[in-house]
Amino acid sequence: MAKKSNCKYIFVVGGVISGVGKGITSSSLGLILKNRGLNVTAIKIDPYINVDAGTMNPTEHGEVFVLGDGDETDQDMGNYERFLDINLTRINYMTTGRVYQTVIEKERNLEYKGKNVEVVPDIPLEVIRRIKNAQENSKADVVIIEIGGTVGEYQNMLFLEAGRMMKIESPADVFFVMVSYLPTPFNIGEMKTKPTQHAVRTLNASGIQPDFLIARGATSLDDKRKEKISLLCNFLPDRIIAAPDVDSIYDIPLNFEKEKLSDKLCKIMDVICKAPDKSAWDAWKSFAKHAHNGKEVVRIAMIGKYFETGDFILSDSYLSVIEALKYSAYAENRKPVISWLNSVDYEKNPASLKELKKYDGIVVPGGFGARGVEGNLQVVKFARENKIPYFGLCYGMQMMVIEYARNVLGLRDANTREVNPNAKNIVIDVMESQKEHLQNNRYGGSMRLGAYKAQLREGTIARNAYEQKEIIERHRHRYEVNPAFVADLEAKGLVFSGRSPEGHLMEIAELPKSKHPFFLGTQFHPEFLAHPLHPHPLFTAFIKACVKQNKK
Ligand code: GLN
Repeated sequence: MAKKSNCKYIFVVGGVISGVGKGITSSSLGLILKNRGLNVTAIKIDPYINVDAGTMNPTEHGEVFVLGDGDETDQDMGNYERFLDINLTRINYMTTGRVYQTVIEKERNLEYKGKNVEVVPDIPLEVIRRIKNAQENSKADVVIIEIGGTVGEYQNMLFLEAGRMMKIESPADVFFVMVSYLPTPFNIGEMKTKPTQHAVRTLNASGIQPDFLIARGATSLDDKRKEKISLLCNFLPDRIIAAPDVDSIYDIPLNFEKEKLSDKLCKIMDVICKAPDKSAWDAWKSFAKHAHNGKEVVRIAMIGKYFETGDFILSDSYLSVIEALKYSAYAENRKPVISWLNSVDYEKNPASLKELKKYDGIVVPGGFGARGVEGNLQVVKFARENKIPYFGLCYGMQMMVIEYARNVLGLRDANTREVNPNAKNIVIDVMESQKEHLQNNRYGGSMRLGAYKAQLREGTIARNAYEQKEIIERHRHRYEVNPAFVADLEAKGLVFSGRSPEGHLMEIAELPKSKHPFFLGTQFHPEFLAHPLHPHPLFTAFIKACVKQNKK
């Protein structure tokens, strides 16, 4: 698409504070350019030393988003996949640790041919190699590269240096968008530009002048402040795009287009683009509208433990689950209202279980370790006995199986090896392939990760929801249903409706509809494949059951 077949690279960098929507901005830039007929891919750079996000606690880092090839990445990769409706691979994700690891391996292999290997330029050169590799792999016309953190942080300097070096080599192909925050302090009552001025100058000190400024703030920035930033930070006024807080992230691409951002970007990049794709845009608009309609709600209890950060509650750890619930609820003309309930609380106060009756459905998402497990098991029992729709994701499915073994099969001490390796009835056991990793403390990137096939049993909830016999879903687990207990569990009514093609791994457990309106768990993570315009069939089946529950 691009003239002279040159690919264009847009770096997205943050100013002032993190957490103001660089990821959503990057995804939205991608979407509006895709809508102009350009082939877009996106890369996330995380400046930490960790080789991937898999070893981090979700309360530190947010959700670990698993790609089809099993890479454990940042939640922004999920935003790119959802907004752009594409599948990304490990090529699209890098961390400082990953970049250094490659450079050091190359050095050990004598690939630098005896040269003195230096932080600059060898580290930025490896960053550039990776960016170009992602472009070649996707044949993208435009590559969006989001650099995590904010300018001025020691951690992301080498990545900015890579951007600067690319710009020197190919000035007409490399662009920078800064997403900065303009605070309106309560006691002043006026939007302040000074922190953004400093941020732009800090970026200037790295040898980079941003081409566009996305001005995040509680409100839209006015002409007076636009003029000030334009004058003091070297932007033409129409390169400053107001991005006020919104109720729904899915409005952001629409807001960008109100400012004609795709036109402006195509113009400075000098690419030939098509007129906006009307039918795709209308589909997005009608999807985005759902967040605003004053429609009926569906009340979901999300039982987790990764919400607390200091005195604050953060739902980032479960981002894909929340989005997946939205897509399916919107498709059913409902608005999901999610309550965050801590599983640990049910251990301290089991009497509060009865409050779960207020909800139309219960979700137990993924998790690790023993904390909160007994609380979770009580929730599962309550949902099963009171016929409240229940959806278990990974750990949530393992909880279902343990609860069933304890309370229906009468195996009182049933447990997962992860929690109690001394239990007599280990109904969830470590996978054979995992034993060696655990013995050798090889935790990083060693779980059963990424896309695997499963086959569905006729006549089950799962089979009817997917309307296909074979599925491919993304995984992230070390433990599995112990095959030794499968026959007994099935004899007592639990149905394993999804299994690995060889038949030995239980992928979905459910109770028949005649016994419970929706009691289903998956060993995989269906939330990673839910996209705005393609809600996930199992989430939709769950929401439908919740809507029915609501009508009772
Ligand atoms: N801790 C469980 C396992 O490793 C479940 C993992 C998860 O919920 N992602 O098997």
